[in-house]
Amino acid sequence: EEVNLIRLAEDIIEEMQLLAKQNQHIVYQHTGEIGKFRIDPNLLKNSILNLISNAIKYSGENTFIEFNSEINGDSCIITIKDNGIGIPFDEQKNLFEPFFRANNTGNIPGTGLGLNIVKRYVHLMKGEVMCKSEVNKGTTFTLIFKN
Ligand code: ATP
Ligand code: MG
Repeated sequence: EEVNLIRLAEDIIEEMQLLAKQNQHIVYQHTGEIGKFRIDPNLLKNSILNLISNAIKYSGENTFIEFNSEINGDSCIITIKDNGIGIPFDEQKNLFEPFFRANNTGNIPGTGLGLNIVKRYVHLMKGEVMCKSEVNKGTTFTLIFKN
């Protein structure tokens, strides 16, 4: 299905901004070519919702969550970046395993299933997901798809 990424992003932000903390702003920007890409809209939307809900949960008040999409030729790149608690480097390899929770989550609630679901959805879309993170600095998740 041809998906208008900008429209999809606007729907996502409208939904997630309601769940954000005090003064947590989700900022969206699209770059590259016009926002049409062939992909499953439900799998993509659910993956992004999961990543943004983590960004909200694992970062504090008065922060920005950056949501970017880019289309370049036959590829599409989506990033979700927060300035939150980050993920210890040695634990990052386990991130996508079911029930995994990093040791710095303290009393933040969660079951450890969200990222495992994201990984499965991204594989169904024949894409890739990766993470870059630094403790107390923040986390960026990147999704890459090719048509
Ligand atoms: P849920 O099943 O409700 O999503 P969860 O958020 O704990 O629970 P995942 O979304 O799978 O589970 O994330 C797994 C773990 O990865 C989290 O418990 C947390 O330790 C870490 N994590 C994920 N996203 C972030 C993030 N944006 N910033 C910091 N840590 C994160
Ligand atoms: Mg989660």
